[in-house]
Amino acid sequence: MIRICLAIFVCSAIAVTASAAPAHTPRPGGLAVVPVADASAAQPTVIFGGKQALVLRQPKEWVAIIGIPLDQPLGVALGTLRHSDYKSSTISFDVESHAYREQRLTVSKSYVDLTEEQLSRVGRERKTIDTALRNWRDTELADISMSEPVSGKRSSSFGLRRFFNDQPRSPHKGMDIAAVEGSPIVAPADGIVTVTGDFYFNGNTVFVDHGQGLVTMYCHLSEIDVEAGQRLTTGAQLGKVGATGRVTGPHLHFGTYLNGTAVDPALLLLPAD
Ligand code: ZN
Repeated sequence: MIRICLAIFVCSAIAVTASAAPAHTPRPGGLAVVPVADASAAQPTVIFGGKQALVLRQPKEWVAIIGIPLDQPLGVALGTLRHSDYKSSTISFDVESHAYREQRLTVSKSYVDLTEEQLSRVGRERKTIDTALRNWRDTELADISMSEPVSGKRSSSFGLRRFFNDQPRSPHKGMDIAAVEGSPIVAPADGIVTVTGDFYFNGNTVFVDHGQGLVTMYCHLSEIDVEAGQRLTTGAQLGKVGATGRVTGPHLHFGTYLNGTAVDPALLLLPAD
């Protein structure tokens, strides 16, 4: 019996190291992992929802890693594949349903009933945030797995349908990691800081571009330790856990984006030690 268990363990360990691509999780907020070309071909281009998608080099093939929006209709989803010889073809995958739970939170009234001034601030900030989340930088990538940005309890809060003071708001587009105020937050992968700032809802925030539309976002920081344009290697400190913006207590809101779309960070994070 012990020998059988050991054999299974060895096989699964080999399976994990054989592919650096994340798992195919074709649900709203998940990832479509679609092989698109042989490894001998030049890097192909994939477009989904009008945006360029990340393509990962694997030992035998190029694999598209497509972020599926939380509001993506269920059923067949189509993308466009452009080969290096400029020929195009259609790629498709089936989006399956996934039940996201509801969350009800109570926050200060100023985060639910906004004044004209606060509304115009939020509108201006929305443009800066959207631009940061849609950032594209050409680069070749072979692995997009991430180490944890801060150690702490990872909530499974991505996709929660939220109500603040009983008023419906947009779904939760990240993972909240509980940690003591002041805990260091580090880059989970190599990247370049694109934007830092103090935002109304997100508090002190840092955006990091990891290439090919893979962007990470760190919110509610007590302190920002980096500036725009700075290159970060995995493990470099970018700030500290705080409780700035619309929060109920100190934690890190960690967002991961592909093709401008929020995807569940749990799908990219390596298991905690
Ligand atoms: Zn959050």
